[in-house]
Amino acid sequence: MIADSENLCEPGSADLQKATALLQSLIRIDSSNPPGNESAVLDVLLWELQSAGITPEVVGARNDRPNLVAKIAAKPENRTAAPLILSCHMDVVPVMDPGAWKYPPFSGEEAEGCIWGRGAIDMKGFAVMALTSLVLLHRKHIPINRDVIFVAVSDEEAGMDYGSKWLVENRPDLLGGPEFVINEVGGFTIHRSGRRFYPVQVAEKGAAWLRMTARGKPGHSSMAIRETSLSLIADGVAKISRATLPWHVTEPAVNFIEGFSQFESKAAQKVSKLMFSKSTGSSVVKLIPDPGQRASVEAILRNTATPTRIQTSGNAINVVPNEATVDIDGRLIPGMTAEILIKELRRVLGDKKGKVYSFEVLRETAGAIFPTDTSLYRAIEEVMMDVDPDGIVIPSMIPGFTDSQNYAKLGATCYGFYPLKLEEDINFAAMFHGDNERIPVAGFHWGIQTLTRLLSRFLVS
Ligand SMILES: [Zn+2]
Repeated sequence: MIADSENLCEPGSADLQKATALLQSLIRIDSSNPPGNESAVLDVLLWELQSAGITPEVVGARNDRPNLVAKIAAKPENRTAAPLILSCHMDVVPVMDPGAWKYPPFSGEEAEGCIWGRGAIDMKGFAVMALTSLVLLHRKHIPINRDVIFVAVSDEEAGMDYGSKWLVENRPDLLGGPEFVINEVGGFTIHRSGRRFYPVQVAEKGAAWLRMTARGKPGHSSMAIRETSLSLIADGVAKISRATLPWHVTEPAVNFIEGFSQFESKAAQKVSKLMFSKSTGSSVVKLIPDPGQRASVEAILRNTATPTRIQTSGNAINVVPNEATVDIDGRLIPGMTAEILIKELRRVLGDKKGKVYSFEVLRETAGAIFPTDTSLYRAIEEVMMDVDPDGIVIPSMIPGFTDSQNYAKLGATCYGFYPLKLEEDINFAAMFHGDNERIPVAGFHWGIQTLTRLLSRFLVS
């Protein structure tokens, strides 16, 4: 149904100008997690929603880690389906080296056609996009067929304990048994072989954060001791870092990779098929020339384990510590568990019986796969066909995790769809958690128009 409502948001409109200013003000609030400081971000969103006549609820385990839930309700006579959630997180990842930024990371500076700053992409941009769409639907009295719930959570970047995990476990009543969730990471332009692709995220990996410990005899470090807790851990770290863990090929990974290669020569397509074989996969992936692309492809075909922190029980330079540990950020292919990953690591370490290393699971979350044969997925494809007729929508899988895996526990189908038109000079993946994070204003406005168009069509169909 083509309705007037699809032109809710005209190019150059006051709503788009306001969205830019709102994004700048959110970026200027440093909500680096840890510690988070999301309440200052929430206050701005709350004020915006209240000024538009929408009354959100604010809930959470701690006052300084709040979550916001704002609903616009369908009229009972129009309501034919379960709610749709628009979800964003208010925290951002810390800035490692502010000096490496062209414009200060919390400036929200508008320059070179972009808004610059930590969170511009991940994901204050979508917070503004979703809020703007919600306000427009509300203001124009669109006869929606289901409740639309805007959720802004804390703590996504550091494990979700105070955010979506808390919300799903403690206040599922506020989420109303959602059928669909729209969240990060998808909808942005990827330029490849002269074409524009738009991934819609339909699968994500889980996490298994592990602590590996080695013990050895303490002693005086003036002696010639060859095997210590430290040497064992160093050896383990080296083995794990160099290892290629076994392949676990899933349907979304195949669809994603084939989606990209569909326009390549038959021969090239044959080669990319070899990536899915347990025996040839890892050697074929090694042939991908671009290191970033190679790492991303590999990460959706196997579990990964990256050592990140080493500690020892020692506190003196002249004493051999009896214990050393390394923390390992493990990521799981959907369907895998921490236990399976530990087995894979033990094989790499040559310690199948666990005589040398012990493992502790610090955190485990399951990955998720969502179906693509849904009304919302089709609606996304149709809208993208309208806004970029030459663009190609492909289902995607990400190696990271998002709040979607918590909403999945409510039975919701979650898609990463954060529409963003990017020119070739902006690589989305590099913006994510990287230096010089920025969002092009034109692409951001295009995203608001696209999301609003999708919602105003889907919610009245
Ligand atoms: Zn994010």
